[in-house]
Amino acid sequence: MPQQLIFTNDVADALSEALGSISPSSTFIITDTNVESLVLPLLRAESPETVRARKIVTRPGDVNKNLDSLSRIWSDLVAGGANRRSAVVCLGGGVVTDMGGFAAATFKRGIPFINIPTTLLAAVDAAVGGKTGINFEDLKNEVGAFCNADAVIISTRFFRTLPTRELLSGYAEMIKHGLLTGPDTFNRLLAFDILNATPDELLPLLEQSVMVKKQIVDEDPTEHGLRKALNLGHTPAHAFESLALEQGHPVPHGFAVAWGLVVDLILSHMMLKFPSDALHRLAAFVAEHYGAPSITCDDYPALLRLMHHDKKNTDGNIRFTLLSEPGAVKLDDTATEEQITAALDILRDLLHA
Ligand code: ADP
Ligand code: ZN
Repeated sequence: MPQQLIFTNDVADALSEALGSISPSSTFIITDTNVESLVLPLLRAESPETVRARKIVTRPGDVNKNLDSLSRIWSDLVAGGANRRSAVVCLGGGVVTDMGGFAAATFKRGIPFINIPTTLLAAVDAAVGGKTGINFEDLKNEVGAFCNADAVIISTRFFRTLPTRELLSGYAEMIKHGLLTGPDTFNRLLAFDILNATPDELLPLLEQSVMVKKQIVDEDPTEHGLRKALNLGHTPAHAFESLALEQGHPVPHGFAVAWGLVVDLILSHMMLKFPSDALHRLAAFVAEHYGAPSITCDDYPALLRLMHHDKKNTDGNIRFTLLSEPGAVKLDDTATEEQITAALDILRDLLHA
C-alpha cells in the first residue's frame, strides 16, 4: 500500500483526516513514558480523537525495543478489545514507530497504523520506508517486517522538548540526504541554524529531506540496489557506534553518522576526487556540532573488525557508498584496510583541528 506522507504543523487536523479515511472501530495510541508526558498533552489539547483513544505506554529507549515490550503491546491491544478494524497511532521516536508499527503489522495479521514521529531522527529516517521491528538477543532490528504505515504525519512542532543531542542526531541524517541530493541542498543545510530554528523554518527543509528518502525507498523498497545510497556514512558510523558501546560510552546514532559521513567523504576524495572544499566544510560543521569520536590508532583494528562484520559486506570486502560530488552516488565501492586507516588518520586531524 502506498504510504501517505503529510507535512504539517496542524497535526490534529491531519490526524483527523487520516483516521477519517480509515474509519476504525477503535483507536489505540502507542507511545513511551517521555512522550506521554511531554507531547501527548499538546496533541490531546487539539485532537478529540486522541482523547478518546486508548493509550498503550511503553518504557523509553532502545533497550526496551524488545520482545517483552512488544508482547505487552499485543496484550494491551487484546485487553482493550482491539479487532481487525481497529487502528494504531504510533506517537514517538524511532523506538515507538518501529515497535508500534511491528505490533500493528502483526496483530490480527495486520491492522492499519499511522506514524507521528516526535524526534527529528524518526521523522527523517525511521517513520518512513516501512521498516518495522524489534531488537532480539542483543541483535539490533533482528526481527521485523516491511510494512508501510497508512499515513505518516510529519511535524516539527514537537521537537521543542528534544534534548540538543537528539536534535543534532537527526540533523546528521538530513545532511546525509543533502549530500545525496546535490551541492545547493548540502550548502543550505550547512548554513542553517538548526539549534535556533523555529518549527516553521525547519518544516520545509525536513520535507525536502524526507522526500529524498521517500523517492529512493519507492524505487527500491527492499534494499537491493538504490536504497544502499542511504548507507552513506553508515559503514564507519556503525563501527564507531559499536566500538563506543563496547567501550561503555555509547554515542547517539546521528553523531556516529556525522563522523561516518566525514570518513566516507575522505574516501570519496581519495578514490573519486570528491571536491576537497566540500569535504572541509562538512568537517568544520561536524567538528563544531558533533566533536570527534574518542578514538586513537590503537582502536583501528577494532574498527576494521567491526566494519568487516557489517551485514552489507557479502564477500569479505568492506563496502562503502561514496560520492564523486554532492548528488553523484557510487554504490558498493570497496576500500582497502590501508585506505580506511589513512582516512581515519585524516578524520582525527580534521575534527581535532
Ligand atoms: P530515536 O532517537 O531513534 O527517534 P527514541 O524513540 O529512543 O529514538 O527517542 C529518543 C528519546 O527521546 C527517547 O527517550 C524518547 O522518549 C524521547 N523523546 C521522543 N520524542 C521526544 C520529544 N518530542 N521531546 C522530548 N523527548 C522525546
Ligand atoms: Zn542512520
